[in-house]
Amino acid sequence: MRNHHIDLCGQIDFTRTDAMPLLARDAHFSFACNGCGDCCRGREDIVLSGFDLWRIAARLRLPPLIVARGFCRASIGTVSHLPVLRLAPVKENRNNCPFLTGNHCAIHDAEPLVCALYPLAQEISREGEVSYFLQPTACGGRVIEAKVEDYLSRYDVPAREQTDVRWALGCMELEDVVEQAEMLLSPVLVRRMQAKLWQALYFNYDYAQLFLPQLERNLDWLNGEIIKLTEYQKKQNNKSK
Ligand code: SF4
Ligand code: SF4
Repeated sequence: MRNHHIDLCGQIDFTRTDAMPLLARDAHFSFACNGCGDCCRGREDIVLSGFDLWRIAARLRLPPLIVARGFCRASIGTVSHLPVLRLAPVKENRNNCPFLTGNHCAIHDAEPLVCALYPLAQEISREGEVSYFLQPTACGGRVIEAKVEDYLSRYDVPAREQTDVRWALGCMELEDVVEQAEMLLSPVLVRRMQAKLWQALYFNYDYAQLFLPQLERNLDWLNGEIIKLTEYQKKQNNKSK
């Protein structure tokens, strides 16, 4: 069983190694940074959760689908089989993140968790335990030292942990359900299921309403829809016997 990772690698199937031990909240860590801003350029790996997208949508006062169409790249995870939404670098503008203006993040108060954590990364276990670890970086410059809990608090990461855990647990449960369903469903019905996954995880949200109750409602709806699709497929299979 894999844990859920949010990290700068943006790899949903990322595996943490012994070289990246989990850090206690009161542990200290250090990293080097010369403030060049390159971590906001040429990035194909800034993965957004549904909560990240909702926060950006609320910041821009636009529906999540419009934000995704305007600023993101969508795919289906090869390992997770779930929707993956990433910020899309702007080719015409030195491959900058679409929200980079000069050396400033235009959505700073709603920036994605991946950005808020850097260079820390987050791991959520199947039991819902949240941990952090330091990613290896190739940056040089002034050495910055910080205590983990202070570093997380500077962008209010602890305040969003409960939502991130619910999102991660929901995704981990869905991975198993979707993988099972895909073994049964025809390609057409797999695509229909994927469209429902996008709606439930990313798009069917009102930015003026709290995120978590909408997530719970959407996950309930999605589970019902996947059951309907698999039952329909079973009936079709029985008819053709
Ligand atoms: S973390 Fe690295 S890439 Fe980002 S601003 Fe600092 S030196 Fe530049
Ligand atoms: S969202 Fe903001 S912090 Fe994150 S990569 Fe884009 S400009 Fe940088």
